[in-house]
Parts: sequence; C-alpha cells; structure tokens
Amino acid sequence: MDADWVNRSSLTSISYQCGFCENKIASNQGFFSRNYIPGNSDNGYIYICPLCEQPTYFCDESRTPAVAPGNNVAEVPSDVDGLYVEARRCISVGAFTASVLASRKLLMNIAVTQGANAGQSFVQYVEFLSSSGYVPPHGRGWVDHIRKRGNEATHEIPAMTEADATELITFIEMLLKFIYEFPAKVPAAKPDEHA
Ligand SMILES: [Zn+2]
Repeated sequence: MDADWVNRSSLTSISYQCGFCENKIASNQGFFSRNYIPGNSDNGYIYICPLCEQPTYFCDESRTPAVAPGNNVAEVPSDVDGLYVEARRCISVGAFTASVLASRKLLMNIAVTQGANAGQSFVQYVEFLSSSGYVPPHGRGWVDHIRKRGNEATHEIPAMTEADATELITFIEMLLKFIYEFPAKVPAAKPDEHA
C-alpha cells in the first residue's frame, strides 16, 4: 500500500509489531484526538506503519489490529490457507468465537481432504486426524483437550476466550506443517538410495 495520508501528525515515537506486515517497526507518524494527552491511555491514537503505511488504533492499552497468532505455513492449498489466515485474523481483532468456529470448519475441511467421510461431527474429525497419524505421539493431550472443548460446545455457541482461539490455531498450524509443508520439503531421493 502506498498511502498518502492527509493531515498526518508527528507523535511520540513508539515501537510495535505491525499487525498488517508483521514487521517490528518504530513510528512517530499518525493521528490523535483533539483532547489527546500524551501518556493518558484513555485517549485513542493511530500510528501509521512506516513500511506498509497501514494504520493501527491504540486505546485503553489495547490495539487493533493486534498481531495475529500463529505463523504462515508453506505449501498449503489456497482455500485451506485462506480460512487459516481468516481464523488467525479474527483473533487479532478480538473476534475469538468467530475464530474458533472458523478453526473448527478448517479442521473438518482438512480431515475430509485427507479421506474422512463428510457429514461427521467436529470431534469425529479430530479423532480421524489423530488416528490417521497426523498428530505426533506426544500430541495426544492436544486431541483430548480439543475433543473435550468441542463436546462442550456441541449444542450451543458459548463465548470463546482468546486462549481457546489461540490454542486451536497452534494445533492447526502443527497439522498444516505435517500435512503440507514438511512432505513438500522432503529431499528427492538419489537413485542409489533405493538399492
Ligand atoms: Zn506494516
């Protein structure tokens, strides 16, 4: 983005990680409210990232967008990756329940692409991924935890916390690496290695 922001002001320089380009940056450019008092967290202010020119809103010691948890994973099909990015971005704007719902849909889609039958429950898909070898031996605790949380929400949509949403992203990132990224990085075997 090459934004030409109008009436930008010089502010006290701060350092933060940009939620858009994810670079660690320092900025002294942005906008402040008319009753802005430096150091008073009740007053909102907006800083512009000097690298990508995107604005981040700071107020009451929180910020929007925050940095999305999780990391990009290589070799993931675009439709799966799109939903993974969406689930991560939901967390960065405080939409934790929406993130959990997107993550559950993502896990179901991944399971079906790996051979699970359509029309099963979320918990059955998690079990399928585990029994198919996509979860490492010491990751069994993850499966038990996610299954328990999934069962709690079967007939209702309780509000989910940031921790709930973030741990699902962590689990999905691990799965995506096992299913897509690591297999694509296997070095091609030399002919004599088959002997
Ligand atoms: Zn940026």
